Amino acid sequence: MARSVNRQILLKSRPEGAPSLDNFELTEGPIPEPGDGQVLMRIVYLSLDPYMRGRMSAARSYATPATIGQPMVGGTVGEIVKSRNPKYSIGDIVLGYGGWQEYAISNGAGLRKLDQTTAPVSTALGVLGMPGMTAYIGLLEIGQPEPGETVVVAAASGAVGSVVGQIAKIKGCHAVGIAGGTEKCHFVAGELGFDACVDHRAPDFPRRLEAACPKGIDVYFESVGGAVQQTVWPLLNDFARIPVCGLIAQYNARTPTPGPDMFSVLRKRLLVRGFIVSDFAAKQADFLRDVGEWVRMGRIKYREDIVDGLEKAPASFLGLLQGKNFGKLLIRMTT
Ligand code: NDP
Repeated sequence: MARSVNRQILLKSRPEGAPSLDNFELTEGPIPEPGDGQVLMRIVYLSLDPYMRGRMSAARSYATPATIGQPMVGGTVGEIVKSRNPKYSIGDIVLGYGGWQEYAISNGAGLRKLDQTTAPVSTALGVLGMPGMTAYIGLLEIGQPEPGETVVVAAASGAVGSVVGQIAKIKGCHAVGIAGGTEKCHFVAGELGFDACVDHRAPDFPRRLEAACPKGIDVYFESVGGAVQQTVWPLLNDFARIPVCGLIAQYNARTPTPGPDMFSVLRKRLLVRGFIVSDFAAKQADFLRDVGEWVRMGRIKYREDIVDGLEKAPASFLGLLQGKNFGKLLIRMTT
């Protein structure tokens, strides 16, 4: 039965170092009424993503921090349950930015109607959404992989990394994943079809990575930084490309982590380029066309890690920062 209250998870305080459950607060309030031009969405799926760690912090970044006392920000798939906006009807399923709550109001800006017949709607937050597009843009626009080259990506069973390696295979590359634990590695190499996957927690990780990349590394899709980055860096070939997508191993660091060796950048003529997926919004139609087709053909597979209940969002998010998720992490609402 539909709930008569709106449960929300507020940002209660900003973490110093690793976030904890104390940084969040679950509250209940009335379900809001849409005003003129607005819609009310009942959230169906909430996406949990590593960038949310940055939003919890007040440090200068490319995006405005989340506000203390307000629901945490986040991408959502929701159903329109009330509409005072002529563009949206009751029953429409929309991709939006409803945040960590069960109901959200929108004026329609930034909403996109989803076609439920082409793909499960949850994929709009994963393989056919922001993470999938991050993989597509970072690898193809910045990584520029050529057939026969070696592409390495960490967090390879996750939302972004899984797509990076599978596109690398489609483009004729040798794709090597790095993931935490044997179960994730078996999935990446066995199910997703990467050529190899190396466990970054194995004591002989450097030796295994070198063995998996006999011709060195031409594209390192950087998602984690830290110890993994330090192991990859010496294996880079001349003219290697490094799309810098994320540094999840360093998001909780209290002091700056020493960066890569700039002498290598010069000597090997490396291209190191950071990017934020929204910089490439103009490529969204290309992404949906190509990756949508590859998913339909079964050339790109995806895995979702779905957790039921808004109240589980804080613990699930903390787990994401420790590698406890296995696939694209989503909260499915129980309203
Ligand atoms: P994932 O689904 O891959 O989940 C995060 C994974 O990161 C964990 O499961 C874990 O995988 C890995 N991880 C966490 N801590 C560490 C660590 N200390 N060392 C090594 N690996 C670690 O997340 P996403 O696919 O959503 O995001 C991947 C990266 O892409 C993140 O850095 C994120 O910030 C970035 N990103 C950047 C965007 C941009 O526009 N630039 C847009 C979207 C994402 P495992 O257990 O396998 O190690």
